[in-house]
Amino acid sequence: MADEINMSRREFLKELGLLGVAMSAAPAAVSFRPDEAAGESWDAPPQAWRRPFWVKEVDKPTMEVDWQQMKRYKEHHTVRRGFTLYVSKEESDRLAAQEEENLARWLREGKPGYSLRDIAISAAQDYQRNLIPMSFVGPIDEVSTPEDRGVPKWEGTPEEAAMIVSAAMRHFGAAHVGFVELDPNTTEKLLYDEDPDGKRIIISDDHDYPEETEDARYLPRSGRWVISYTVQMSQETMFRNPTELGSQTTAMTYEKGRAIQNKTQAFLRSLGYWAAGESQTNALGIAPAFAVMAGLGEIGRLNRLITPEYGPMVRTFKMVTNLPLAPSKPIDAGIMDFCRRCKVCAEYCPSGAIPTATEPTWEVAGGWNNPGHKTWFEDAVKCRTYWRYVGTNCGLCFAACPYAAKDKAIIHDIVKATIGTTTIFNSAMARMGRFAYLDVPPYGPNAEPVPLKDADEWWTLDLPEYGIDTTRGHRNA
Ligand code: SF4
Ligand code: SF4
Repeated sequence: MADEINMSRREFLKELGLLGVAMSAAPAAVSFRPDEAAGESWDAPPQAWRRPFWVKEVDKPTMEVDWQQMKRYKEHHTVRRGFTLYVSKEESDRLAAQEEENLARWLREGKPGYSLRDIAISAAQDYQRNLIPMSFVGPIDEVSTPEDRGVPKWEGTPEEAAMIVSAAMRHFGAAHVGFVELDPNTTEKLLYDEDPDGKRIIISDDHDYPEETEDARYLPRSGRWVISYTVQMSQETMFRNPTELGSQTTAMTYEKGRAIQNKTQAFLRSLGYWAAGESQTNALGIAPAFAVMAGLGEIGRLNRLITPEYGPMVRTFKMVTNLPLAPSKPIDAGIMDFCRRCKVCAEYCPSGAIPTATEPTWEVAGGWNNPGHKTWFEDAVKCRTYWRYVGTNCGLCFAACPYAAKDKAIIHDIVKATIGTTTIFNSAMARMGRFAYLDVPPYGPNAEPVPLKDADEWWTLDLPEYGIDTTRGHRNA
């Protein structure tokens, strides 16, 4: 592993030579024009969402799914809520005490990323996120319906509906928007059986509107369409994980996700429809799974969504609506194939939570995983235990992923296009990826938190609003 990372400049140039070969091989598979390398798809008809030519729509996701084996899952069995299902109370208490001690010491020492100014920015994000409510049923009294206004509800084809919902949500701040039609034998199983707070989600034939009681949330069966969306995270702060500075990125992104949900629920009610939302963070259904079915990205080795445009630098969310929406299709951008060779996230994971096996498996790593899909299942207890050590979340796997690299340079478009059209250069590309932008070598288990980039430097950067570049991703700004 160390040999792969300590590639010499001569070897790097040799790999660049290979890339030249890749470039000449690519036209065999696709029409490779200079302007296509800049990431646009020129032959596509006008539509709400244009993607690069190497992002291919497919009938089934690149991750194999066994719908027979899959059951609706209880969210509170994830380690996010159910850590103590998998470790003893004594161990949990020990980790909590260790976390408190580490954070206090690093604050006193002014450790980069853990100093008072880093804690202050983190507290600011938490404060604002917690101010924004989330609701399963959405606005009822606060937003007028078409009936209230004395006009008929909005009508259009599912394609037109998909277009206007996507346009509105992009305007509200979503990075990707896609749609899944619920089927009782397949995609409906991606809705949680029980929410994070233990309330059952009951799919009901007797309800016309979503309803919440003491112990259940009723989702009308007329709600057949899932809206899946992402919100971009700031790469420059994620590169400074695991620190207070890095981890506040998550709170900031969830805050935006909540705001988008509220606005979309109000938008749909104003059109004459309803949208059931997440009652709290990560409620309602398995967000990355819906995102894969909607074609927003593929599942990668780190068992999270990797998008062609922003890599793993997104958070994913979902809602269910009764407005008929034209489903979007899963994609194949070569990402899962590339993960077989790459393994960078596993090498950089300080807790050893990410598998290094070349092939994905059907075997889950523990009760925190939902069976029925073939992936690289993470040891989530190891991951969470490391979080308790660093006192924040971690996200080193996100930051180290080659798809997280900023792709203004044309070389990144060429690399992603090559990966998306042929697998034969994946090993070379994986080695190049490490050499090109990872200065910090992989960590050992339980390593002291050392970000991939200098945490103090972040305060000196001149970054765009929210730290994200919304003109990336091949859309008109
Ligand atoms: S968040 Fe950190 S500890 Fe968890 S899997 Fe990613 S790199 Fe490993
Ligand atoms: S770091 Fe490499 S193996 Fe891991 S998710 Fe990203 S592309 Fe896949």
